[in-house]
Formats: sequence, structure tokens, C-alpha cells
Amino acid sequence: MKKRKEKIAEAIIESQKQKIVLMVQDCERHIELVKNTKEMDIQKQILQHYQKVLNTINDNPDSYGICVRCKGDIEVDRLEIMPTAVVCKKCS
Ligand SMILES: [Zn+2]
Repeated sequence: MKKRKEKIAEAIIESQKQKIVLMVQDCERHIELVKNTKEMDIQKQILQHYQKVLNTINDNPDSYGICVRCKGDIEVDRLEIMPTAVVCKKCS
């Protein structure tokens, strides 16, 4: 039972990782096209956030999907829409 649950979690994390990798690539491409400095700063901050989440998944996959504020689980549907979410619905 526990093993099966872990397997599902691993599969979810792997697919979330793929999504975030694509988001990072999109963001990097976007930054190259941006002319406005203010917009570029915003995009760079977003990129940093994405990369931070990606590093977390790589270094400590168990902590992915845990809300940084209340330490509860982030809702799966929220992670589906926003793979880089670090807080749950209640804390956002
Ligand atoms: Zn929370």
C-alpha cells in the first residue's frame, strides 16, 4: 500500500519536473526578447523562482508539494495548474 503511494508520488513529481523545465525554457526565451528593463527584471525573478523549485525537486523531492507556510500538502489540482506553487490554497 505504502509502496504504491510512493510510486504514484514519484510519477507525479517526475511529470511536474518536466513541466517546470519547459516553463524555465519558455521564460529564458522570453527574457531574450524583452526590451523593457522593468519587464526583464520581473521575468528574471520569475525564472529564479522556477529554478529554485526545480532545484528543490532535484535535491529534496520529498519537500516538493509541501506548503512553505503551514507545512501542509499543497492541493494536487493547484500543483497541476501551477507546478511551481510553494504555498497551498489557504496560505496563498
Ligand atoms: Zn499552507
